[in-house]
Amino acid sequence: MDLLEYQGKQFFAGYGIPVSAGEATNDVDAAVAIADRIGYPVVVKAQVHTGGRGKAGGVKLAADAEECREHASNILGLDINGHIVETIWIEKASDIAEEYYASFTLDRSARLHLGMLSAEGGVEIETVAEENPDAIAKIHVDPVVGLTEEACRDWVAAANLNPAATEGAVDILLKLYTAYVDGDADLVEINPLILKPTGEVHALDAKVSLDGSAIYEHPEYEQYEATQPRDEREQAANDKGLQYVGLEGTVGVIANGAGLAMSTVDVVNQVGGKPANFLDIGGGANADVMAGALEVINNDPAVKAIFINIFGGITRGEEVANGIVEAMQRVDIDPPIVIRLDGTNAEEGRAILEPNLSEKLMMEDTMLDAARRAVELAGAEPAGGSN
Ligand code: GDP
Ligand code: MN
Repeated sequence: MDLLEYQGKQFFAGYGIPVSAGEATNDVDAAVAIADRIGYPVVVKAQVHTGGRGKAGGVKLAADAEECREHASNILGLDINGHIVETIWIEKASDIAEEYYASFTLDRSARLHLGMLSAEGGVEIETVAEENPDAIAKIHVDPVVGLTEEACRDWVAAANLNPAATEGAVDILLKLYTAYVDGDADLVEINPLILKPTGEVHALDAKVSLDGSAIYEHPEYEQYEATQPRDEREQAANDKGLQYVGLEGTVGVIANGAGLAMSTVDVVNQVGGKPANFLDIGGGANADVMAGALEVINNDPAVKAIFINIFGGITRGEEVANGIVEAMQRVDIDPPIVIRLDGTNAEEGRAILEPNLSEKLMMEDTMLDAARRAVELAGAEPAGGSN
C-alpha cells in the first residue's frame, strides 16, 4: 500500500518525526481557508502516487491568499505522469538551508535492512546513484540487532552532512527506523530531509509503502485503501467504457452481460483455472467493443489464454462473430482464444467463425467445454466440473 505524501507525514508524525503542519483538501476555497489558518507563506502540494511533482508543477509556494488560490486551482486536476490530482495538501512553508535524502528499505539479497543517506537530496536518488554513487552513505541493519545509536552516528558521519545537522539527523533516522520496522513498511523515504537555517532537521516530503498483509496488525491502515491507485488494467478498460475488474489469474475472460461474465468467472474457477479478470462488454459486441476488450486483456502479461463467452440475445450471433473476426484483424493477440457462441443466430455466427479457426482461435459448443479448453491452454490442470 503506497501512501500519499500527507498520509506518510501523518504516519511519520506518529513516530515523532518533525513534519510541517498542514491539511488536505480537494477544493480551492477550502485550500485558501486552510492557508489563512496556517499563515503565509504556505506550500500547495499535489497528492498523487508518483514522484517528481515539483518538476511537473505540482509543488508551489504561495505568499498570500491570491497566490494560494491560483496554485490550488492550477494543481487540482493537473496530470502528473498520468495521475490526475484530486487532493492537495497545504502546509506551512519551510526555509531551507540544505536538502538531504534518507530512506530504509529491505535489501532482499543481503536479507538485511538497507538505510541510505545522502547530502545530495531533493533530486531523485537514482540520479545521485548514477552520477555520484559515493555521495550515498549506506548502512545494513540486522533486524535482530536493530539500528543502534552508535551505528547511526557513524552512518551520519559517513554521509558528510553539515555538522549542524548531525544531532537532528541522528534523532530522525532512529525514529525513521522505528517507523519502518514497527509500522511494517516496505519503504520509508524522506526526500528532501532538510536542514533549516535555524539548525532544525525536518522531513519535507514523505514516501511510505506499507506491507499490505500487515493490515491485520494495523487495522488503522484500512483508511489508506480508499486512496490506493487503481489497477492499470482497470483504468485502461474503464477508459474504453468497459466494465472490468482485474483478478489475479491467467485466463482472460470476455462475456456479454454482467450475469454471464460472473458465471464465466465461476466456471473457470470450477474447472481448476484462475480468471485474470471480469469483463462485461455489455449488450453490443461489435468489432470496436471486442477489439477494445481484446486489447485490454492482451496487455495483461499474466494472461495465457482468453475465453470469450457470448450468449446472443438482442445482439445477434453473426454480429458478434463478425466483431470477433474484425477485432482479431485489428489487434495482434498473443494468447490463444477459445470462443463459446450461443443464443440468437448462433448457427450463423459459428458459420462465420468456422473458416477463421486455428491453433490461436478455437470454438467449443458449451460453456463448460470452452472453460476447460481455455484453462488447459493457460497451463493449469483442468479439474472436472459437474454441470
Ligand atoms: P517531489 O518533487 O514530488 O519530490 O516533491 P517535494 O515535496 O520533494 O518538493 C519538491 C521540492 O520543492 C523540494 O525539493 C523543495 O526544493 C521544494 N519545496 C517543497 N516544500 C518547500 C518549502 O516548504 N519551502 C521551500 N523553500 N521549498 C519547498
Ligand atoms: Mn520529494
